[in-house]
Amino acid sequence: MKKKIGIVGSGTAGLHLAYALRKDFDLTVFHSSLPEEIRKGRIMSTQVHFGPTRLRERRFHMPEWEATPLLESIHITVGDQKLFVGRLKESASSIDQRLYFSHCIEDLKEKGVVFHYAKVDEEQLRKLTSDFDLIIDCSGKSGPLFSFPLNIPLSPFHQPQRKCAVGYFTGITPEKPLGVNVTILPEIGEMFEIPAMTEEGQVSILFLMPIPNQKLDVFKGIKSGEEFTARMKVVLESFFPNIYERVEEENFSLSDEGAFLQVAIKPEIRKPYLTFNDRLVVGCGDSVFLNDPITGQGCNLGSYCAEKLYETLIENKDTGWDSQVGESYWERVKPYVKEVTEWTNAMTQPIPQHIIELLVQGAEDQSIADNVAEWFAQPTTAHEAFFQKTNI
Ligand SMILES: Cc1cc2nc3c(=O)[nH]c(=O)nc-3n(C[C@H](O)[C@H](O)[C@H](O)COP(=O)(O)OP(=O)(O)OC[C@H]3O[C@@H](n4cnc5c(N)ncnc54)[C@H](O)[C@@H]3O)c2cc1C
Repeated sequence: MKKKIGIVGSGTAGLHLAYALRKDFDLTVFHSSLPEEIRKGRIMSTQVHFGPTRLRERRFHMPEWEATPLLESIHITVGDQKLFVGRLKESASSIDQRLYFSHCIEDLKEKGVVFHYAKVDEEQLRKLTSDFDLIIDCSGKSGPLFSFPLNIPLSPFHQPQRKCAVGYFTGITPEKPLGVNVTILPEIGEMFEIPAMTEEGQVSILFLMPIPNQKLDVFKGIKSGEEFTARMKVVLESFFPNIYERVEEENFSLSDEGAFLQVAIKPEIRKPYLTFNDRLVVGCGDSVFLNDPITGQGCNLGSYCAEKLYETLIENKDTGWDSQVGESYWERVKPYVKEVTEWTNAMTQPIPQHIIELLVQGAEDQSIADNVAEWFAQPTTAHEAFFQKTNI
C-alpha cells in the first residue's frame, strides 16, 4: 500500500512536491483558497524562476508556458551609472503566481491528486498527523504551522531589512535584451524591473525595495491602485530616470486591480523537521526557509528543497519515516540553504568594497558581467564571491 502524504499549502513548494510525489504516494493537498479565488486575487511575488528551477519543473512534468517572455540577462545600474548587461547561461521566466498556482492546481486535480480547499487550523493539524504517514508544511511566509526550531546563526535580524512595493504595469517599454533590470541606489534601496506574463498578457513588474525610513520609503498609507500608480510614477521620475524615459504616459497603469502589493519580510531559517505525536512532520519553502526577496531566491530555493525532499522520501520509500529521515533531508539541503541565506542577508547590508570593485570591472569585462548575472541562477557562486573573495 502506498504511504499517505498530506501537503498543506500549494504555492511554489507545495506544487513542486505534488508533481514530484504524486505517482509514488497517496497524496492529499490542503489549500486555503479555490483556484478561481487565486486567479482573481492579489499578486503575491515577482517570481523569477531561473534555469535550474525551470529544469526541475521539466523534470517533474509541470505545465509548460509557451507564451512566456524569456529573460536572458541581468542589467546592473549603480547610482546613475549603468554598468553592464550580464548574460544568463539559461533563460529565466516570471509567470504571475495567480496564473501559475491556479493552473497547476487544476492540472493536478485532473491528474487525480485530491485537493481540500480550506485553511487548516490547529485542531485539524493535530488530526492530520494521525491520518497521514507524513505532513509537509508548505504554508509559506504565513507559517510555519508547526514550531520548527529557529536556526539562530542564520536568522540574525529582528526586523525586515527592506520594504517591498510591487506593481504589475502596462505602458513601459522593456529594456533590450529582455532581462531583470536591477538599479541599486546605495543607502536608500533598490528597484527591480522584470518582464512577466499574466493572464492578461505581458507586463512590466516594478519591484521597489526601500530601506525603511530612508528616501525611497514613500508608500506608507497607500491603499488604492490609483494612489499606488501615482506614487510609483513620482518615484520613477525622481529616482529611476532610466525607467521613466521608457514610460508611455497615456498607457501607464496597473495591469488589473489586484496587481499591487506591499509587504515586508523578516527573514527566518528553521530546522525543517520535528515529530508530532510520534509522526514525522517536515517543512519546505518559506515556512522554514524565509529570506528577504532581494536576491529573488525564494521560489528557486523552495523548488531546490522540494527536489531534495522528494529524493529523500523516494530513497526511504519502504522504511518507516522518523526523525532520521527528517535529519537526512536537512543534511541534504543545509549547505545550500546556508549559502543562499548568507548571500541574501549580505545583499540587504551595505555592499562590500570588493563587490563594488567587481561590479565596476564588469563594465569593462563581459565575462565578469556574465558571472555576476549567473549569481542569481547559481547563488553558491555569489556566496563564493562575497565571502571567499576569490576571482569569480
Ligand atoms: C515581493 C516579493 C517578490 C519576490 N520575488 C521573487 C523572485 O523574483 N524569485 C523568487 O524565487 N522568489 C521571489 N519571492 C519569494 C517567493 O515568492 C516565495 O519564496 C515562494 O512563493 C515561496 O513558496 P512557498 O510554497 O513556500 O509559499 P507560497 O508560495 O507563499 O505558498 C504558500 C501557500 O500556502 C497557503 N496556506 C498558508 N497557510 C495555510 C493553511 N493553514 N491552510 C491551507 N493553506 C495555507 C497560502 O495561501 C499560500 O498560497 C518574492 C517574494 C516577495 C514577497
